[in-house]
Amino acid sequence: MSTLAILTAAGSGTRLGRDLPKALVELDGVPLVLHAARRLAAAGVVDRLVVTAPAGAAAAVRDLLTADPLVGLPLEVVDGGATRQASVAAGLARAGDDVDVVLVHDAARPFAPAALVRRVVAAVRAGHGAVVPGLPVVDTIKTVSGGEQDAASAHGSERAAGTVEAVTGTPERALLRAVQTPQGFDRALLVRAHAAGAARAAADHLAATDDAGLVEALGERVVVVPGDEAAMKITTERDMHLAALYAGLVA
Ligand code: C5P
Repeated sequence: MSTLAILTAAGSGTRLGRDLPKALVELDGVPLVLHAARRLAAAGVVDRLVVTAPAGAAAAVRDLLTADPLVGLPLEVVDGGATRQASVAAGLARAGDDVDVVLVHDAARPFAPAALVRRVVAAVRAGHGAVVPGLPVVDTIKTVSGGEQDAASAHGSERAAGTVEAVTGTPERALLRAVQTPQGFDRALLVRAHAAGAARAAADHLAATDDAGLVEALGERVVVVPGDEAAMKITTERDMHLAALYAGLVA
């Protein structure tokens, strides 16, 4: 039995505002996808990697990871899909019957510590079919109904406040967790969740933003283990600096 890690790297990263796909942007001279692959390998609990590559970059990603002595894992590179969910599904299609545990990890989280990776895998191997790392949230979170035009602005008033959204609720903060990757799964459960998720995406054109959500939609149990701030997601230029700080790359 073995553990396969799907490393999602096929996003465009437009919010980072570079010419390159986000996974190929360098931090401390190393592309984010390579940072992420190195951390997965360093955990010592991953047997094989499948990386989802941005359009036209599969060969470059393969060369980059294969040549790196700190990765040193058997790996495959597949073309990503139009959504993250489709990319993960493409990676999951490469998980054979020998694989019992699947990790799904975002290259956009290049500094997930080895201890976090091991914590997630250990929880799956302890019998939890779906495991996500999560951190308490510091902000109070509101749910909203979606974009609505302010009445004053709709009538052309000078007091126009622009678009406002109606608040529909305030979930109890102590019960909220901001979830990260790697998320870990029993392979058969994740395959079932993605099959159901693909059918839903075809019907309503809405793709899931994480894999645990697909398992929840099946009505199956998902558990949270403690996350780590170093596993933060890089979306903006500011995040690049923060992640480097957490990873100890800068003083
Ligand atoms: O876009 P976002 O930052 O949410 O993407 C999360 C992760 O999923 C990133 O590592 C990105 O490269 C990956 N992704 C993908 N295929 C897509 C979109 C995103 O592999 N079509």
